[in-house]
Amino acid sequence: MKKVYAREEYCTGCGLCQVHCITAHSPYKDNIVKAYKKTFPRPLPRVIVEEQRPVSFALQCRHCEDAPCVKACITGAMQRDPATGVVNNDESRCVGCWTCILVCPHGAVARDERGKKAASKCDMCSGIHEVPACVAGCPNGALEYRGEREKEA
Ligand code: SF4
Ligand code: SF4
Repeated sequence: MKKVYAREEYCTGCGLCQVHCITAHSPYKDNIVKAYKKTFPRPLPRVIVEEQRPVSFALQCRHCEDAPCVKACITGAMQRDPATGVVNNDESRCVGCWTCILVCPHGAVARDERGKKAASKCDMCSGIHEVPACVAGCPNGALEYRGEREKEA
């Protein structure tokens, strides 16, 4: 399956990937201004920019083959889509126990406690955009969307 890969050497830590992620998961999808000014609460970013100057990179779910979060989820909310391979959280089934956060080896799941408690993670923009918004929106090519066996650009 295609995944998002970070290219740390090109990342400036600008955080635009997070802005595009938030926008894509808002009701406005492509309109940053409306996503920020008219969406309450604003979606959490599903990509995390890690920074320890001068190094920065954008981190998101690796959609692991044998995903520990899927195995550990107590309600079955965390599931792999058999058609795409994307690991996704069905927030309507999530009870906010945070077991997935405990078991994720990549720190790729966040708590969303602003309404009904639910785990928040990368869904690869499934059903929103063909190419994940973080990849399309990075001005520096610091995120790459490619197959596991494809060579780095
Ligand atoms: S948009 Fe690109 S350069 Fe900016 S923080 Fe994200 S990955 Fe790094
Ligand atoms: S949330 Fe963590 S454990 Fe689950 S598939 Fe993503 S990286 Fe793997």
